[in-house]
Amino acid sequence: MAEVRFQQVSKTYPPRRGGEPVSVLRQLDLAIADGEFLVLVGPSGCGKSTLLRLLAGLETPSGGEIYVGGNPVSRLRPGQRDVAMVFQSYALYPHLSVADNIGFGLRRSRPRGAAEQVQDVLHRASRQLPPLLRVPSEREERIERRIAEVAETLELEPLLQRRPKELSGGQKQRVALGRAIARSPAVFLMDEPLSNLDAKLRTGTRAQIVELQRRLGTTTLYVTHDQVEAMTMGHRIAVLNAGRLQQLGTPMELYQWPSNLFVAQFIGSPPMNLLPVIALGGDQVQLGSRRFLVEGPVTQALAAHAESASASSLTAGLRPEHLRLAPATNRNLPAEVTHLEALGNEQLISCRLQETSHLVLLRADPSQHLAPGQTIHLEVEPTGWRFFDASGEALPMPLPVPMDHEPKLPDVGRI
Ligand code: ADP
Ligand code: MG
Repeated sequence: MAEVRFQQVSKTYPPRRGGEPVSVLRQLDLAIADGEFLVLVGPSGCGKSTLLRLLAGLETPSGGEIYVGGNPVSRLRPGQRDVAMVFQSYALYPHLSVADNIGFGLRRSRPRGAAEQVQDVLHRASRQLPPLLRVPSEREERIERRIAEVAETLELEPLLQRRPKELSGGQKQRVALGRAIARSPAVFLMDEPLSNLDAKLRTGTRAQIVELQRRLGTTTLYVTHDQVEAMTMGHRIAVLNAGRLQQLGTPMELYQWPSNLFVAQFIGSPPMNLLPVIALGGDQVQLGSRRFLVEGPVTQALAAHAESASASSLTAGLRPEHLRLAPATNRNLPAEVTHLEALGNEQLISCRLQETSHLVLLRADPSQHLAPGQTIHLEVEPTGWRFFDASGEALPMPLPVPMDHEPKLPDVGRI
């Protein structure tokens, strides 16, 4: 069992010369189930790498405790923690072959006596000699078998004798992955491992990492800033901002029911449209001079808000797919097209609402011929409305929140 738990973990870096101490994580609580693939996202500098480095033992927490498989690890050295990290920069040893890079952690893992060390060195030196002249070493033979297995899994067999400088970016990345899986660690940590690869290779490697994780069932913490990776790779996503956890949930939960404005803007590309509205009580909101009907579970939250709150102004959120081109009637919102992006399978229309001057973005069929400056009319999907109060928190929803499509997630036990 290797569930991972951060309990009230804080991290403050000491001040750099003449500066202030940097408080990066503040009393963070986060639990990752055994076998879970958790994707960690957040803006640059929010503490994602720090979180992984704390778990790997490359940094020490300023407060709190980290547990792996129920055991506190803060006092353990990196080598004792049974976690393997894959870095964005690959961090391969340039002077070692692919095979020796993959085997590096295996060779370092257990202390050996001087005689065993000499035997291992002789074994490696005599590997190319005829069988009778080879020096046997059980440990080395075991390591070589493991390297061969890993190389087969990642299709690295033809590259085993090369040095890192003779590899492409994608190949280096596979070697870095191979080094991580070789020791069969309890936890994988991956810090933006695909961000140096080109788009096509990223797609392939993404699928490979997901497939590998599901097959090995190794608890994984994966940092990315890529929307597609965030939405498709993990069982759940954790959104971090300014050292605090904003929301933890399945990709569809976060997409459909963001718990605050930060998550609403961060998850989804293009982001959710935000517009100021007045709650009129019941299931109606007003945008500019127009009234809209709200449908779905959010109406209960809206009604509860109208009863309890003195201020009725709210920020409404609408995903680009919840606005539609519509006939030019009084009911529909007139807007002026400002920009068009044809993406092949769809087009993104940026437009300015005529009455309130807000910019909104919607998805439309690519066959709609439009031009900047043209006036269009929009209608709103009544179940698409989301509402946020003055402090940016989503109106509390009745639980459990129904989902449009249940996410197809492999069972990872209790999450
Ligand atoms: P992320 O990976 O989310 O981009 P990091 O965890 O790398 O963020 O960094 C979070 C913050 O901590 C940043 O403001 C960064 O400048 C600061 N930081 C990171 N490492 C150190 C360090 N060793 N000393 C001082 N400040 C650091
Ligand atoms: Mg980082």
